[in-house]
Amino acid sequence: MSRRKPPAGAVTKAPDGLPAPLFDNWAWQDRAACRDVNPELFFSGESERGLRKHAREVLAKSLCGTCPVRRECRQHALVVGESYGVWGGTTEEEREPALHARTH
Ligand code: SF4
Repeated sequence: MSRRKPPAGAVTKAPDGLPAPLFDNWAWQDRAACRDVNPELFFSGESERGLRKHAREVLAKSLCGTCPVRRECRQHALVVGESYGVWGGTTEEEREPALHARTH
């Protein structure tokens, strides 16, 4: 039996205070539209700002729009508090209010 590898951008370590992810929890990622896509499409480089960042996010979100597991991906990002990158068609800025509300 081959062991499945988490897709690009996958969180493989639980953030502090959260239980470690169960491998089965990642099964939805086998159907991800981004499975074979460079993760740089979903995460900002250190110096990325403004139009360049916006253009990358638009491209990433357009791929998410075709993804059959977008809902699961977005839910994952909210549950574990993903504060970086495009997940489930949302940017970190778009998830921030929900993450902020959860912690306050
Ligand atoms: S919703 Fe977007 S980031 Fe999430 S698995 Fe699908 S393509 Fe990847």
